[in-house]
Order: sequence, then structure tokens, then C-alpha cells
Amino acid sequence: MSDDTIGKEGHDHDATEHGPAARIKALEQLLSEKGIVDAAALDKIIERYEHLVGPRNGARVVARAWTDPAFRKRLFADAVAACAELGISGPEGGHLVAVENTPRVHNLVVCTLCSCYPWPVLGLPPAWYKSFAYRSRAVSDPRGVMREFGLEIPESVEVRVWDSSAEQRYIVIPERPPNTEHLSEEELAALVTRDSMIGVATIAPPSKKSPRSRER
Ligand code: FE
Repeated sequence: MSDDTIGKEGHDHDATEHGPAARIKALEQLLSEKGIVDAAALDKIIERYEHLVGPRNGARVVARAWTDPAFRKRLFADAVAACAELGISGPEGGHLVAVENTPRVHNLVVCTLCSCYPWPVLGLPPAWYKSFAYRSRAVSDPRGVMREFGLEIPESVEVRVWDSSAEQRYIVIPERPPNTEHLSEEELAALVTRDSMIGVATIAPPSKKSPRSRER
């Protein structure tokens, strides 16, 4: 994606981004030096959300929504309860809302104020999500931003931008790609990317030549 646009611009133009980040780093170091927090424990928490929790949880939710119409209905009615059915819950996920991509509507998620993000389903936010450029331009020019990610949304499709907050966070349920009728729920989940659940990507159909069949 556009490291040289969204990401970089954010660093160039957002003076406030440095302040809090620098203060947090100093605070963390101080707490660590005084033995109040354990740096290794902090690393473990970050590691957990980056690699173990991560977007694979969200991918499981999406795959279930694609394959189970009753679950899909429950998901859009109450995402927190539906995720809990799959054993997914945790901090920063207590007010989760799922939004549905359709042939006529495309959803994009941002946090204009800071970096609110649904940790239990997507893990920790990528750097670009926190950049000033993304936070401002996702609202003022969502189609332009998506284009920088390589996603062209036709004019005939309505774009809805959702501004996250500490009270409400969003996961996009992307459209199921064509030619996936033969895939298992697990195989479907493997197709789902983090970016598609933020809304800056859609999901490509699996490549035709290598239909991976997994032993179960
Ligand atoms: Fe935020």
C-alpha cells in the first residue's frame, strides 16, 4: 500500500502525533525503570494482540457470516454477542458494530480522533490507520484514499465512512468473493485480509490453478 503517501504524510504533517507517542515512550521507560511495569509483560501483551489475536479472529467472524445466514443476522443485530459465540471478546471490543458490504454499499472505517480499533477481532491497528493523513482524508476523500490502497470503488456504489470512538468500533464484513462455493469455512477465513475488514480492500477470489484442499 501507500507508505509513501498516507503513512509518510502523517508523519510530516501531524506534529501532535509525535508529542503523545514520545511521552508514552518516556512514561513506559520510567515505569519500567521503577519496576512498576514489566517490559517483558508489556511485550507479551503486544505480541499477543499483534500475532495471536490479530485479524485472524475477524476472519473467522467473516467466514462464519458468509456460511451461516442465521449467524450473519445475529452479527448485524449484535456483533458483541455474535463474536462471543465464537469465543471472541476482550478489551476494546465491548461496543463492536459489524457493517455489511454489498454490491451497492462499501464501508470504510476510520478513527478521526485517534486510533480506536476493534482489538479482539483485528488485533492492533496498523501504523497508517493512526496517521493523520488517513484519519483526515478517509473522511474528506474516501475514494481517493481507497485508490491509494489499489481499491477503485465504482461511482455507482455508495461509500459509507464510519468514525470509530472509544464507545463504538467497527468491523467491515466484506463481500464473499465468487467461485468460493466449494471452500470450507476455514479455507474461506484464510482468504479474509485485515485491510478488507477495515474497508481499504476487497477480497479477491482464490486463484484458480491451486485450489488448496486441506485435510481436516
Ligand atoms: Fe480513537
